[in-house]
Amino acid sequence: MSDYLLKATAFGGDVRAYAINSTDTVEEARTRQDTWATASAALGRTLSISTMLGAMLKGEDKLTVKVEGNGPMGAIIADANAKGEVRGYVGNPHVDFESNAQGKLDVRRAVGTEGTLSIVKDLGLKNHFTGQVPIVSGEISEDFTYYLANSEQVPSAVGAGVLVNPDHSILAAGGFIVQMMPGASEETIAQIEEKVANVPPISKLIQDGKQPEEILELLLGEGNVKVHERLAVQFSCPCSKERLKTAIQSLGNEEIDAMIREDHGATASCHFCNEIYKFTIDELRELKTE
Ligand SMILES: [Zn+2]
Repeated sequence: MSDYLLKATAFGGDVRAYAINSTDTVEEARTRQDTWATASAALGRTLSISTMLGAMLKGEDKLTVKVEGNGPMGAIIADANAKGEVRGYVGNPHVDFESNAQGKLDVRRAVGTEGTLSIVKDLGLKNHFTGQVPIVSGEISEDFTYYLANSEQVPSAVGAGVLVNPDHSILAAGGFIVQMMPGASEETIAQIEEKVANVPPISKLIQDGKQPEEILELLLGEGNVKVHERLAVQFSCPCSKERLKTAIQSLGNEEIDAMIREDHGATASCHFCNEIYKFTIDELRELKTE
């Protein structure tokens, strides 16, 4: 089954909610980045949440998430847009630890407990919005919860989980975001808080094969959920040889000459998808500017 997310509301629009099944997306990121289990979980949680945040945007708008902790994984970077497309990578993909005391992948240890979570939104026409908060947990979901409450002033519940098979492939990945809209009544807030607190952990829901529809019903109550849109979700990288040409050109003729003389060509790979692009001496010569 292909990945998708749902955009929904509940309680007469006082609550906005998103839920995602991101298994294939996270699996593609894993194979492209060669992440080990704990790194896969950290990257997968970040990708799942970033995809939902991207889905809150409109048109051609997009965003970049950076989780820069002091753990051995280094930074986690994710790009997402309003079309359900996401891509991401990590500083060091080869991070794996024993499970933590709760029997879960020790994401906090891989990410670190100090650092920053920042989001840059590119809203077109050179209109950028940047928000940044300190990392408060290192478990990713809690960090995004803190970000949304403090940087965007939207009280939210955020959950994301990734389950990894013994062979390191992704068994399942998904998540949710539930947000209180301004003007939500105390009664609604209390009801949502109670429901969210009583729902099993997202990793359990994913393990049980719960789909976004069911996750939203568990979070918001059966019959309360009004789904507005179902959006297909996928790992997608818009890189191309053409784009890399521009990047090489910007290095200048001297640098290009050095590539021709010393390396007899150039090889460049995309951080996000690990696609490798090769340039021959002739191709490099063509990139030199007058
Ligand atoms: Zn790429």
